Amino acid sequence: RTVFVNGEYLPETEAKISIFDRGFLMADAVYEVTSVLGGKLVDFEGHAVRLERSLKELDMKAPCTKEELLEIHRKLVEVNEIDEGLVYLQVSRGSDGDRDFVFPDPETTEPSLVLFTQNKPGLADSPAAKKGAKIISIEDIRWGRRDIKTTQLLYPSMGKMMAKAAGADDAWMIEDGHVTEGTSNNAYFVKDGKIVTRPLSNDILHGITRKAVLRLAEEAQMQIEERLFTIDEAKEADEAFTTSASAFVMPVVEIDGVALGDGTPGALAKRLREIYLDEARAKAI
Ligand code: PLP
Repeated sequence: RTVFVNGEYLPETEAKISIFDRGFLMADAVYEVTSVLGGKLVDFEGHAVRLERSLKELDMKAPCTKEELLEIHRKLVEVNEIDEGLVYLQVSRGSDGDRDFVFPDPETTEPSLVLFTQNKPGLADSPAAKKGAKIISIEDIRWGRRDIKTTQLLYPSMGKMMAKAAGADDAWMIEDGHVTEGTSNNAYFVKDGKIVTRPLSNDILHGITRKAVLRLAEEAQMQIEERLFTIDEAKEADEAFTTSASAFVMPVVEIDGVALGDGTPGALAKRLREIYLDEARAKAI
């Protein structure tokens, strides 16, 4: 695999980052994951805009322009011959060659930029989406700026491990009695034809897929309610699903051992997945 590190395209075994990089030492880094369908990037613009926002919220310098980022994405997709898969991008604050809690001087410290591809044949025609996901609920103990897409992913990783140990696929997190989001996706349930999801705030990531899916649902005359909801409401729902750039629309068929509907992917979730994938392919660049 060819990867991109700080201005260079290199074989992955030759790519190097300083051990003092704040991304490595302090998770002082932000990231984006863009999906690739038919060799093209899905919603690159959405990811580029969110990256810009994450960097700004953390007073981090942009490593390059949006146009340069697009060029790097495209080149990696091309040289690694990705038809379906993902492009991972990470920007860290870099390092001034030592460990310190205080940010290094931005005048003399350059951010680190790393990108690599992940080949995922069958990303769209996914067996997991046909089966639907079983989820468990866990407490949300993450920090209070989940709207910034940082690489602090230890707790979400632990959440996935808790799900795995319980024989499930993923976890939804609960704070103050309400569902925030999934470990790596936004959460929704459907009751009497209405889609319910948590409104945007600092408590959840502003999903690129969420934005597109809600717009498409509205265009398809589906009812949407953005409000706080409990896990019990979701358990009593007709169906549920999650959205993310790497899994698109993923039907949820079980929550904490309770089957939703007949325990198979719901009609609305399946339809939204199709509509989303159709548009994603058509608009990919
Ligand atoms: N919420 C969290 C915590 C995530 O990590 C992600 C994706 O990684 C999402 C939501 C979905 O966001 P997007 O649709 O932009 O991939």
